[in-house]
Amino acid sequence: MKQPSLSPDDRRRLTELRARLDGLRRYFVGYPCNQDFDYQELAPFFEFSINNVGDPFGGSNIPLNTHEFEREVLAEFATLTSAPKDAWWGYVTAGGTEGNMYGLYVARELYPEGICYFSEETHYSVAKVLRLQHTRNIMIKSQPNGEMDYEDLRETLRIHRDVPPLIFANIGTTMKGACDNLTTIRGIIDDLAIGSSYIHADAALSGMILPFVAEPQPWNFADGADSISISGHKLLGSPLPCGVVLARKAHVDRIARSIEYIGALDTTIAGSRSAMAPLFLWYRLRTLGREGCKAIVDRSIALADYAIAALARHGIESWRHKNSITVVFPKPPAGFMRKWILAPRKKIAHIITLPHMREEIIDEFASDLAAALAQEKQS
Ligand SMILES: *Cc1c(COP(=O)(O)O)cnc(C)c1O
Repeated sequence: MKQPSLSPDDRRRLTELRARLDGLRRYFVGYPCNQDFDYQELAPFFEFSINNVGDPFGGSNIPLNTHEFEREVLAEFATLTSAPKDAWWGYVTAGGTEGNMYGLYVARELYPEGICYFSEETHYSVAKVLRLQHTRNIMIKSQPNGEMDYEDLRETLRIHRDVPPLIFANIGTTMKGACDNLTTIRGIIDDLAIGSSYIHADAALSGMILPFVAEPQPWNFADGADSISISGHKLLGSPLPCGVVLARKAHVDRIARSIEYIGALDTTIAGSRSAMAPLFLWYRLRTLGREGCKAIVDRSIALADYAIAALARHGIESWRHKNSITVVFPKPPAGFMRKWILAPRKKIAHIITLPHMREEIIDEFASDLAAALAQEKQS
C-alpha cells in the first residue's frame, strides 16, 4: 500500500515543533534529563514492528524483539548495583515509576500484611502506586536536608513491630538529591529485632551516579536493597522515557509461582514493552563504556560546584548533597520561570547540572536569577 504523506501545512507544523523544542532545550535546567546524546545510528530500527512483550529471560512468541540486548543492559545494571551473582532478575521499564511500582508489587506479594514506610520527600508517584495496590502505608518525616528522619522511622516501626516493614528508600530525592541511608535503616530494623522486611531503593537519577563516585552512600544490593529502580532517560539520556528495575531472584521466583495458574510466567507489569528502549540503553552503555559513564558523572559534579560558585558570586546561597548534582536554591519569582524551565516546590527550586548545562548557560542562569531576586526585593 502506498504510504500516506503529510500535507504541506502539517509538515510545517512539524518543522515548527522542532524549532520550538530546539529553542527550549537551553532553558530546560530544572529536570534531571540529560540531553547530550545522539542515537541517529538506531534510526533504521524504526522500520520494524518490534516488541519486547514478556519476560526478557523467558523466551517469547514474538521473535521480533531485542530481548538479547535487553539482557545485556540488565547484566550491566546488575554489576553497577552490586546485585548478587546469578541471583537477580529484572527488565527494562517505561520509566522510574514503573520500576517503583514493580518493587512495591514484589514487596506486597511477599508480605501482603506489610506496611510501607516512605518519607515526605518521596516522589509523587509512590502514593499513587500504594493506593492502586491497596498497600497500608505510613509517611515518615523528612529532615530539612531531605533525608528520612530516622528517629521518626524508629518510633513508627516500634509501634508496628509485629508487621513486616516495606521500606521505600529514596536514593536521591527529586527535590534535594538526598539519599536515605540503607545501613542506618537496616540497623534500625535489626535493633528492633524485626524478622521480615523489604527495602526498595528508588534510585531514579542517583542509581547512575553512585556506581561512579569514590565514596557512595550505602544504596545498592550489597547494602541490603531487595529491589532497585533506575531511570534510563535521566542521567544517560534518551528520546523516550525508560528505565530498569532489578530485584533479588528469590523474591521474584516466589511471586512468579503464585501467578502460574494463569498459564504463563507473566513477570512484567506492562504487557507489550518497547523494544527500542533496551536498544537505546544498550547503545548508550556500549558507546560510553564505564569510562564514559564516569566522565558524565565527574563532569556533572564539577558543573554543580561551578553553579554553586556562580550563584555565590551573585550573593545567592545554594547547596548540594555529597555525590549529588541537584543544586538547591531559594524559589525564584514566578516571572523567572517563563524563561527558565524549573520545578519549584514550596520555598525551593533546583537545577540539575547534567553535561548539556555548559558553564555559559550556568552563568546566564545565575545572572538572570540575581536580577529577578533583586527586582522582587524592590517591589
Ligand atoms: C524522576 C523520578 C521518579 C520517576 O521516574 P519517571 O521515570 O519519571 O517515571 C521516581 N523517583 C524519583 C526520585 C525521581 O526523581
